[in-house]
Amino acid sequence: MVDILSTEIQYLNGIGPKRAKILASELNILTFRDLLYTFPYRYIDRSRIYAIAELDADMTYIQLRGKVRTMNIIGAKRGRRLVIYFYDDTGSIELVFFKGIKWIQEKIKANTEYIVFGKTSAFNGKYNMVHPEIDEVTESQMPYGSSMTGIYSSTDKLKNAGITIKTFSKFEYSFISKYLEQIHESLPAMVIKENNLCPLKFALKNIHFPTNMQALGQAQYRLKFEELFYLQLSLLKQKNVRMNESVGHVFTRIGDYFNTCFNNIPYELTNAQKRVIHEIREDMRSSKQMNRLLQGDVGSGKTLVAILSAMIAADNGFQTCIMAPTEVLATQHYEGIFALIKNSSIKVELLTGSVKTAKRREIHAGLEDGSINILFGTHAVIEDNVKFKNLGFVVIDEQHRFGVAQRAKLRTKADISPHILVMTATPIPRTLAMTVFGNLEISVLDELPPGRKPVQTIHVTENQKDRVYSFIKKEIDTGRQVFIVYPLIKESEKMDYKNLQDGYEEITSIFKPPKYVTAIVHGKQKNEDKAYDMKLFVEGKANILVSTTVIEVGVDIPNASLMIIASAERFGLSQLHQLRGRVGRGSDKSYCILMTGYKMSKESKRRIELMCYTNDGFELAEEDMKMRGPGDIEGTRQSGLAIPLHIAQLGKDSAILSLARKRAIGILHNDPLLKAKENQLFNYQIERLRNETDITDYSKIS
Ligand code: ADP
Ligand code: MG
Repeated sequence: MVDILSTEIQYLNGIGPKRAKILASELNILTFRDLLYTFPYRYIDRSRIYAIAELDADMTYIQLRGKVRTMNIIGAKRGRRLVIYFYDDTGSIELVFFKGIKWIQEKIKANTEYIVFGKTSAFNGKYNMVHPEIDEVTESQMPYGSSMTGIYSSTDKLKNAGITIKTFSKFEYSFISKYLEQIHESLPAMVIKENNLCPLKFALKNIHFPTNMQALGQAQYRLKFEELFYLQLSLLKQKNVRMNESVGHVFTRIGDYFNTCFNNIPYELTNAQKRVIHEIREDMRSSKQMNRLLQGDVGSGKTLVAILSAMIAADNGFQTCIMAPTEVLATQHYEGIFALIKNSSIKVELLTGSVKTAKRREIHAGLEDGSINILFGTHAVIEDNVKFKNLGFVVIDEQHRFGVAQRAKLRTKADISPHILVMTATPIPRTLAMTVFGNLEISVLDELPPGRKPVQTIHVTENQKDRVYSFIKKEIDTGRQVFIVYPLIKESEKMDYKNLQDGYEEITSIFKPPKYVTAIVHGKQKNEDKAYDMKLFVEGKANILVSTTVIEVGVDIPNASLMIIASAERFGLSQLHQLRGRVGRGSDKSYCILMTGYKMSKESKRRIELMCYTNDGFELAEEDMKMRGPGDIEGTRQSGLAIPLHIAQLGKDSAILSLARKRAIGILHNDPLLKAKENQLFNYQIERLRNETDITDYSKIS
């Protein structure tokens, strides 16, 4: 199929090589398709004309209609500008131009009515518009009688090269008027009909030049649906292909290792834990390689799921490797397992960067001869020259700290890829999970072990510090431990370290040794110092731990009942939630105190409110996605997965996503690998999508 859309953008009327270069570098527009699928991000109703008296500071793009009273050039050099006094029946406004002054001076006539279109801003108590569009009033200025103007994103470089929003709109018009008829429908008639979609040509025309609101709505719906549909179809087909090709170790036995461990568990498994272990067991005996993502809020008991699954591997003669992002966590996992392997002959080891050479050699040997069943460790496990006799199962805890490259290394450890369980405590909204991890199996631990008291979250401002200190004192006096966390970001590292240090000094001046012991942990310490202080706290010898977010992930100290987060307004929602998850792990009531400055941005306020309102990580994740969009959600960016969406928004379009996904599942149900002749259009589109967006096949890297 020759596709007009793959033509290079320079060949469109009015563009040429020079502008093509700028479009490529600024907006990543290389082809006709890229241009056509760069949609307006908002629309202005051109039928609406504002009166100057109506203006206020919050307006963005609006239209005015009036005449020019005077034009003056003022200022010199870089400040030189043309100021036009523009008026209507209700008032006047200044139009300001720094560029193209001569051209405008020549173009503008007195006693002529103009339509001015631009963004208002307030300056010295007066309103003005910088570089607005000015057009003489003529009948129907818009293509296709459209009353709405699409606003496209722009950059300074584009503007300097003379590509204004209006020029850009002209490019779109130039394409549509000339080539629209040559565009092939990209969805089969069946799908269009069943989902009540408008045709592609209608959608593309109306997304750029809507005839009216209703047509725009139809266009948006169709394009969103199609985008989500192909994304789902692509991911789900990928999964089918993988399942079809994949070969996995078959673990059928449940034996002594599993049973002994199970009998050592001092509590009842939650129903969610039982369900997930069952899911994993089914995968492990299916003869296909498992690729499962386990999502569970902090404290939902993921570790136990991993350990019981490792026992199944051991019962079938295979080794397991359980990786954590930090040494502290790996050590904690390792130490935690001993209570569970009482009376068991299973052999477990811990391998981290600080293991001494002799011991390291011994572990290497044990892995190679198969005498070690379960290995705990950090990245060192895969970066070292470690060989397993028969690695059958890999657990990656707190997945987002692991890079893609590190996961790839894992694959070299065995001939048949081991079963893989990726565990994350950063809840991902359902719609996002379906999209980013659509080609993985997903399990969710949506239940906390019984008897947990929800952490009570309280917001205080910094001037209430004294009350916080007396609260700390009260908790310590009843034998509890306290976290105090300070923000640390690269951009303000120096200041942040100073705040941390000041905070530490203040705390130690109030909570004086030797009565109180305060540990401090941060990234600038030597490893030994860090480990020493961390250990003090883990072992209950320190009452207070002052730190940066290094303790964010996974650390389990049931005796800690109070988490204080300083400058809480500077943390993201998921980070706050992660930190809060460090307390509330024991049976005592726990608290999280969010300390902020007095003044906060609207978003910060909202985050703090949400934190005080709910303990549910999934609910927070949904809200976070609504506020910030999916690209910024923790776990998405770090995982390095691009979500190739032009128009659909996962936070808002979940209903369309469900429908599109259902449709994709239906199609694949009848033809799992899309081999049927009538399904070739799908393959063509999927292929195109892959080339265009480079969707990472997550299953292949792990
Ligand atoms: P996370 O999912 O955050 O990794 P962990 O696995 O660290 O959570 O578990 C948190 C705590 O809950 C641990 O102390 C663990 O022993 C305990 N735990 C796990 N499962 C249960 C259960 N079914 N009942 C009671 N306590 C449990
Ligand atoms: Mg954990």
